[in-house]
Amino acid sequence: MLNGEKIYVTSGERAELVVVWATLDRSKGRAAIKSFVVERENPGLKLERLEHKLGIRASDTAAFRLEDCRVPREDMLGSPDVDVKQGFAGAMQTFDNTRPLVAGMAVGCARAALDEIRTLLTDADVEIDYDRPAYSQHAAAAAFLQMEADWEAAYLLTMEATWMADNNQPNSLQASMAKAKAGRVGVEITLKCVELAGSFGYSEGSLLEKWARDSKILDIFEGTQQIQQLIIARRLLNKSSSELK
Ligand SMILES: Cc1cc2nc3c(=O)[nH]c(=O)nc-3n(C[C@H](O)[C@H](O)[C@H](O)COP(=O)(O)OP(=O)(O)OC[C@H]3O[C@@H](n4cnc5c(N)ncnc54)[C@H](O)[C@@H]3O)c2cc1C
Repeated sequence: MLNGEKIYVTSGERAELVVVWATLDRSKGRAAIKSFVVERENPGLKLERLEHKLGIRASDTAAFRLEDCRVPREDMLGSPDVDVKQGFAGAMQTFDNTRPLVAGMAVGCARAALDEIRTLLTDADVEIDYDRPAYSQHAAAAAFLQMEADWEAAYLLTMEATWMADNNQPNSLQASMAKAKAGRVGVEITLKCVELAGSFGYSEGSLLEKWARDSKILDIFEGTQQIQQLIIARRLLNKSSSELK
């Protein structure tokens, strides 16, 4: 029987199944957490509200209350045994696969904005020359070259983290690096593209303002920018979560 809340559930309204992490033993807290597949039609899973958001408005974000929500034993994922050393660490491992995907979304959004601004700059007769130093070019072209360099770094980190996940290699560090870099430059690039396009970029006549709004969540969910940096620092310095908070 599950009791509590599951908030910020992406696609929760339209989903047929919702994954809920819950502790089997309140006294052990997160060390005893397990994941459960809960059917959306389960009468104990009550949709409380849908969030109104800055971006990704085509994606619903649901808040559920679980009240005496009975879940069959076979719908618990993984072993039923409580291993306090592995409980929370197991939950965290799922991020090794999902963070590179969010990084991929940030890379894709930024790419779309770059392609759009490139078209606008070309239409405005601004030449982007890869063979000349940025300082000798139009300011908008120099900004574009800088953005492409940042984009390329995010893209390569994302490819690396994704390749490692696909090939079953431990990739926590690379997943966080990709997410941190792509999340940050995704926001910077899309907002800069709005800026370069001026009032047209800010208006709903183009998708630039949408991509700028959508990008911020990619720097937040599946672990914020600050949390990725914390994880990276812990890994590089070989510190535990209690040693580096
Ligand atoms: C639209 C949307 C969809 C979502 N979808 C899902 C979903 O499907 N499933 C799901 O489980 N969750 C989902 N989430 C939740 C999301 O993953 C979290 O909101 C996100 O990871 C941030 O956690 P938090 O809200 O607890 O932030 P908090 O921990 O409250 O952080 C607040 C701020 O403090 C900073 N901060 C916190 N701790 C530290 C620290 N130690 N050092 C420095 N800075 C710190 C954070 O970086 C952040 O800037 C979604 C959220 C949103 C907004």
